[in-house]
Amino acid sequence: MLTSVTRIEKEIEARTEEKARLCYQCKKCAAGCPVSFAMDLLPHEIMNCVCRGMDERVLTSSTIWLCAACETCSVRCPNGIDIAGVMDALRSISLERHYPPAEPHVTAFHRSFLAGIRGTGRTNEPVLIGIYKLLSRRLLDDIGLGAKMIAKGKIKPVPRFVKDRSVIRRIFKAAKTRVRT
Ligand code: SF4
Ligand code: SF4
Repeated sequence: MLTSVTRIEKEIEARTEEKARLCYQCKKCAAGCPVSFAMDLLPHEIMNCVCRGMDERVLTSSTIWLCAACETCSVRCPNGIDIAGVMDALRSISLERHYPPAEPHVTAFHRSFLAGIRGTGRTNEPVLIGIYKLLSRRLLDDIGLGAKMIAKGKIKPVPRFVKDRSVIRRIFKAAKTRVRT
């Protein structure tokens, strides 16, 4: 039996307007999730832990980082809960509470992607891969595959830049301000 609304439920609701308590554990979200095979908590288990106030279990789970934000679960939920949005909120809360990410290579990828966009204004594979390799310390992983892709012209070795990078800087600045407020 569930007790009163938990702190983490309130935090999720404040960010997403979603009420985890509406979940009645039908498991339709988990049944449709394409990455459930790799998760340590299935999406319906995340909802259950949230309603039980098991903050640390949820915020240190692999699941919140492995979620691909595909929104299949949100579409399938008979109660209209945006579970993908809840996962997004949980990632933010986890970082704000300074939990070490359970899947550090995923956060390394997110950081690399944003750093690449911030620096060039575009999604550049060589920049993304270079920063990711440094942050994840997986320097030699897939090196053979990378060489083949460059040889076939699938990865352009020279990065491209947008003409006016000051626009990109302004977008990042505005996003940062919005997150703080
Ligand atoms: S949004 Fe995340 S949890 Fe939902 S189905 Fe997609 S990968 Fe699974
Ligand atoms: S589909 Fe919706 S109601 Fe069903 S278990 Fe998942 S979150 Fe809960």
